[in-house]
Amino acid sequence: MIKKNIGKQKHIALVAHDNRKTDLINWVKNNSNLLGRHFLCGTGTTSRLITEETLLPVKIYKSGPLGGDQQIGAAIVDGKVDFMIFFWDPLTSQPHDPDVKALLRIAVLYDIPVAMNQSTADFLLRSSIMEEEYDRNIFDYSIIRR
Ligand code: PGA
Repeated sequence: MIKKNIGKQKHIALVAHDNRKTDLINWVKNNSNLLGRHFLCGTGTTSRLITEETLLPVKIYKSGPLGGDQQIGAAIVDGKVDFMIFFWDPLTSQPHDPDVKALLRIAVLYDIPVAMNQSTADFLLRSSIMEEEYDRNIFDYSIIRR
């Protein structure tokens, strides 16, 4: 395993499908004091709505269906995102479903904390290690013989 550090200040990606945007925005509003201690980014529409509603600074990637999920996946690979809140819609199929699946796969592969519903987001944000450094474990594929 390769260890990769998550700093005290997390780089948190915020993503919500259309039917979950209100829930995520309300959650961000209710937790803006805690979230304001970290670096935020997110997919296009989600980020724009959060900045409008909360005034928190959010780095804006492309909209999810236009490649934003893939950009966030690439940011995880590059070590620029190390925490994710992704309220995906369990009742509606998405045109960019392959991108969603790829993003969730990359998040698991790179061992970053991911909340996909509000209760998990609440537990993560109030975790005793939320404001500490943390070593995540990434599988070392170089040890696999070909
Ligand atoms: P959006 O993308 O924030 O641009 O709506 C979210 C998504 O569908 O992945």
